Amino acid sequence: MSLHGAYDPDNIFAKILRGEIPSVKVWEDDDVLAFMDVFPQSEGHVLVVSKTSQARNLLEIEPEVLTKLTVAVQRTARAVEKALKPDGLSLMQFNGEAGGQTVFHLHFHIIPRWGDRAMKGHGHAPMAEAEQLQALAARIAAELD
Ligand code: AMP
Repeated sequence: MSLHGAYDPDNIFAKILRGEIPSVKVWEDDDVLAFMDVFPQSEGHVLVVSKTSQARNLLEIEPEVLTKLTVAVQRTARAVEKALKPDGLSLMQFNGEAGGQTVFHLHFHIIPRWGDRAMKGHGHAPMAEAEQLQALAARIAAELD
């Protein structure tokens, strides 16, 4: 999938937003959804998406939507930090297949990092247990400001 082209309304995040497939939600409002990555590269890997935009990547998103999304990323990252006490946080965002993107609905990755634990590779992490993700989501949600 190149940087240019039409939004696929049947991409997996669109299906999550329509409630057609399950997700482990951390929080949501009218504009954004934060949910657990099911193939976490690190414990507490969260994804944040716009609920209103059909932008596939950073190049396409409306600036006012990007503003809300970025504020949501910061809010979520602060809660991740309080809940899980990582040594660091990596934010990742991929554009186009050649850029490493696999789901073509713009999203930001929030990945907690610990100095003594290696982060798993993008696209090379095993699927997590739903119960573990739900427990992490509850801990993170409890720390939202
Ligand atoms: P990207 O490669 O940046 O497009 O990232 C897509 C992310 O979505 C990857 O980190 C996947 O692990 C994650 N992912 C794929 N399917 C699901 C799903 N059903 N629920 C939650 N995360 C998913």
